[in-house]
Amino acid sequence: MDNNKLWQSVLAQMQLHISRANFATWFQNTEIILKDNERIIISVPNAFSKEWLSNKYYKLMLKTIRESDSAIKELEFKINPQPLGALIQKEASENEKTNIGQLKFDEFKVNKETNLNPRYTFDSFVVGSFNELAYAAGLAVSENPGHAYNPLFIYGGVGLGKTHLIQSIGNKISQDPQKKKVKYMPSEKIVSGIVSAIRSNSMEAFKASLTPIDVLIIDDIQFISGKNKSQEEFFHVFNSLYEKNKQIILSSDRPPNSIPELEERLRSRFSGGMTVDVSLPDYETRLVILKTKLQEKNLTLPENVLEYIAANVKKNIRELEGALNALLIHCKTNNNILDIETTKRLLKGFVFSPFNVANYKKVVDSVAKFYNLDEKSLFNETRRKEIVRPRQVAMFLLRKELKYSFPAIARKFGGKDHTTVIYAYKKILQESEENNKLTEELNLIKQRIYSG
Ligand code: ADP
Ligand code: MG
Repeated sequence: MDNNKLWQSVLAQMQLHISRANFATWFQNTEIILKDNERIIISVPNAFSKEWLSNKYYKLMLKTIRESDSAIKELEFKINPQPLGALIQKEASENEKTNIGQLKFDEFKVNKETNLNPRYTFDSFVVGSFNELAYAAGLAVSENPGHAYNPLFIYGGVGLGKTHLIQSIGNKISQDPQKKKVKYMPSEKIVSGIVSAIRSNSMEAFKASLTPIDVLIIDDIQFISGKNKSQEEFFHVFNSLYEKNKQIILSSDRPPNSIPELEERLRSRFSGGMTVDVSLPDYETRLVILKTKLQEKNLTLPENVLEYIAANVKKNIRELEGALNALLIHCKTNNNILDIETTKRLLKGFVFSPFNVANYKKVVDSVAKFYNLDEKSLFNETRRKEIVRPRQVAMFLLRKELKYSFPAIARKFGGKDHTTVIYAYKKILQESEENNKLTEELNLIKQRIYSG
């Protein structure tokens, strides 16, 4: 078997074991450059690829190669950089050639029947430690809707892939030969549906319209908070689907037990299946995501530019994509080489400056927003539980994150005796060690503080 054929067979095997997105990222531009009796040297485009392939895929590759040639004992990776211009357009087919449309921002149309956007697929979803549980749960549900986990409840901060994931589940199920009926709805839509059904006295018809659905996906369910009438009706919708083993998938910016003003019986329904979070991707995963996005658009950027974006745009995946698109548009319109200086200049708005980390205002702001309070009420002299707890959390975070002194915090909170602050700090500290819900809340608030 010649080298090329051998390598093609390795690639074919690898494709069976990893997602298309990962495959494209790691195996593009690789080939066998040398084969002697016991050793094969593989050319890879950059150091990152080299490291990744040798750490993650070495065994699998060697095993595959040895199936064809059992003499081989060792693989080696050699960096063989590709010529990198500014924006190298690869194999652009005729209809892809023109203008910015080629960046494929919005080429997909939402399916009228399901409301799903076909751009959201498992194939284009990059998996890392930050989201692998959610991904695994999502995949399980897509393979066995109604029976794996019901409901599936995915939560996490803005721009971390919740919508992408839950729509991928829907898209996968709706492609099944079993032709299950899938419906995706942002929670505003179901709330407004309920409200107008109540108004026009057509609640039964509204519910009947949801009866044939096999898989109901509601995005950002936290917005149902405080909407009592909608909660009541949604409870019945939920139950009637659930009893028939229909799959329900929900996303939210926080776990069920942290959604304020949610009826207890709904809260317990939401938590009755599988609850998993998505968090922030690390540097390596950010780099993979960037490469995957480029791959989808059939474009490339210089490696050092990608590394700069991955190292500096940390807020969330949406921002990462935004930064990438901003650079691509620049390349497209100026048609010049994208160097690091230009990249830095263009990405100013996306990159945290050292002055842009946590500060007093952000802490207070994030705590108030998280607990749905206006900022002033955090400072109210009241013993109401809904306020006392958030106030203690704010005090705790000012101490923990900003290292404010206890008397300084006391002054901020209307000159309280600073022993009150010490008490609050200790109480939250101790409780967070014993209580997962509180730890979770603190993490979500911190995410907001540092990404705001
Ligand atoms: P959320 O619903 O959590 O606010 P989205 O699902 O809208 O976040 O994701 C924001 C953007 O980031 C989308 O364009 C999405 O395709 C992209 N994205 C998020 N997570 C991933 C991922 N794991 N792999 C690839 N793209 C992702
Ligand atoms: Mg979303």
